[in-house]
Amino acid sequence: MAIENSKKNVTFISGDKTYSLGNGHFYVIAGPCSIESEVQFLETARSVVSHGACLLRGGIWKLRSSAQAFQGLGKAAFDIVQKVTSEFHTGLVTEVTDPRQIESLYPMVSLFQVGSRNMHNYALLKELANQDKPVLLKRGLAAYIDEWLKAADYIDTSGRNQVILCERGIRTFETATRNTLDLNAVAFLKKNCPYPVIVDPSHAIGISELVPDISLAAAAVGADGLIVEVHPSPKEALSDGPQALTPVQFSHLMIKLEKVLNALDRKLQKK
Ligand code: PEP
Ligand code: MN
Repeated sequence: MAIENSKKNVTFISGDKTYSLGNGHFYVIAGPCSIESEVQFLETARSVVSHGACLLRGGIWKLRSSAQAFQGLGKAAFDIVQKVTSEFHTGLVTEVTDPRQIESLYPMVSLFQVGSRNMHNYALLKELANQDKPVLLKRGLAAYIDEWLKAADYIDTSGRNQVILCERGIRTFETATRNTLDLNAVAFLKKNCPYPVIVDPSHAIGISELVPDISLAAAAVGADGLIVEVHPSPKEALSDGPQALTPVQFSHLMIKLEKVLNALDRKLQKK
């Protein structure tokens, strides 16, 4: 495995602020799995931003395993994004599922997300190499670390594009949890690869009440941040409700994270 470890911080703009992921501070990205309506996204954004999230997440186009599952609002979400991000002075990370979406998403995103199902979509990765916003690259459902780093190479061809790796749990023989969070990978990559590494505890474990515990573990092992799903009423969510934190659970998580990070001489980067 070809690895090098001269660290690359990833600079991104969220609303009126510029952040440098990889600088040792811990960043929390939060929001719903999917943007479902203006009210839902507005309420979620209000709560996560007020508790310190520095960037919103929210799916516009969803890649679901089932063709019958909710596929996202698509372009109908654009006005909602514009309204909510300007109201809360924050940016957005959303998944780009097709190279043809890059141009229309470009003005509204701080980071592009490449989902787990697309880590091996080399046509998409090559197109993302031709633009200048950073890319949050999720680990494939059953990808080796080596394959994941090779996928990052497709995006980071010129050194102009920056990559953030996101460990979101991998497929193992275990079925009691949605996936198995590979904290080994986080420790390994922090030591051996140049990119910042964040953790998605929501897709990793798939059970909302356990999301805070593994979020703390991610902070303790040295991750650069989290991307976490939050929904104002998870039971009514159109996608991934069982793993979504309520705003109250999210606020408790932020308090605990700050304590763990302080014990490790690290800072929770709040908006
Ligand atoms: C998501 O972040 O909503 C998502 C679909 O994640 P993943 O690609 O990790 O399954
Ligand atoms: Mn989801």
